[in-house]
Amino acid sequence: MISLARRLGLALVALLLLGAPALAADRAPVLLISIDGFRAEYATRGLTPTLAALAGEGAWAPDGMRPSFPVNTFPNHYSLVTGLRPDHHGITDNTLFDAARPGVKFSMYARDQVQDRFWWDEAEPVWVTAEQHGLRAFTMYWPGSEAPVHGVRPSRWFVYDEKDPAFTRVDRVLGWLDLPAGERPDFMTLYFEAIDTLGHRVSPEGADLNQALGEVDAALARLVAGLKARGLYDRVNLIIVADHGMAETSPDRIVFLDDLVPIGEVTTVTLGTVSGLIPRTPAAEAALVGQHPHVECWRKAQLPARFHYGTHRRIPQVICLPETGWLLSTRERAASRPMTGPAGSHGYDPDAAQMRALFVAHGPAFRPGVRLPVFDNVSVYPLIMRLLGLKPRPNDGRARDTARALR
Ligand code: AMP
Ligand code: ZN
Ligand code: ZN
Repeated sequence: MISLARRLGLALVALLLLGAPALAADRAPVLLISIDGFRAEYATRGLTPTLAALAGEGAWAPDGMRPSFPVNTFPNHYSLVTGLRPDHHGITDNTLFDAARPGVKFSMYARDQVQDRFWWDEAEPVWVTAEQHGLRAFTMYWPGSEAPVHGVRPSRWFVYDEKDPAFTRVDRVLGWLDLPAGERPDFMTLYFEAIDTLGHRVSPEGADLNQALGEVDAALARLVAGLKARGLYDRVNLIIVADHGMAETSPDRIVFLDDLVPIGEVTTVTLGTVSGLIPRTPAAEAALVGQHPHVECWRKAQLPARFHYGTHRRIPQVICLPETGWLLSTRERAASRPMTGPAGSHGYDPDAAQMRALFVAHGPAFRPGVRLPVFDNVSVYPLIMRLLGLKPRPNDGRARDTARALR
């Protein structure tokens, strides 16, 4: 018989050998994957078997996540990794102006601005906190990851290159997992744009989208096969999300701004779905604000509370939101870039079913077969922080939204 003292001694040795450091080394890495524009409903079409298998063996929100307003790519990607609404994190849309930078336009095409921390510094993305706490973050194409936010960059990061093939991206991530223990990342991001790109060109309702759905699922299949070959399929926590969904648009569903206000009296910061406008006269503002057929406009401070939007200085004076499936345009623009048939857009009411975004999670932290009701995408951030063992920064999300999915 081993004496109690001896047993305690052994336990202490075991704790010293296997305790805190072993726990840290054992923490499963988190791979956050964004499939841009993957509407929640796409996962039920029978065209994405790999995703279906991951959902079946993991946690899934069949009705998706509610994106944040405005339902566009940059604001929602930053909400996912900061837990903040766009009104709070400062990436208030894909296109930005700021009085502190007169004449400078931020857009996804302005590489120098995308890489300038000025635009991103009002929030702290996961990778910054992770790096500051001795974890390694490797990002591949997450909006914000090209800028030294708070002066901190991910250990590895990449300039966005939409020509980089999906398989190459997957192989790069698998290569990261092959690194020796002391160099392997704790947090990784991976991004695919194909479904959003095609979803804008064709109707998201029909079979026209099949090719892109198949392409991205094949990339996921390559990832899963690579993980299985390495014995890592059950040792990496995968969180697969979209930034927003997609709704069908039509040349028959266009509202012309010219019909609402004298077009010379308004500056359009953004136009299409959710639109940011600056009326140049009080009369133009009065004409714009209010309900019109298929579009409603508000002074920024008077937006419906459920949008959680309208206080940030970067938000233009008036925000217009077309009915889901409708577009706001000008006669000049419609004549120079005519729509020829059905297409797709996002940037609509975050409560519209078509805007709901994919959420699937799989790995050692997740209980198989859990189904989550619709939750706000800002709740992904506290989930990631929990998986990484990091204290979340103050945020707009709720850990309890995904708590049921965890073991
Ligand atoms: P949206 O206009 O909201 O539909 O934005 C989708 C587009 O964002 C995709 O077609 C991508 O090419 C682009 N995009 C995604 N990530 C980045 C990035 N990190 N830098 C620049 N553009 C990006
Ligand atoms: Zn997007
Ligand atoms: Zn898009």
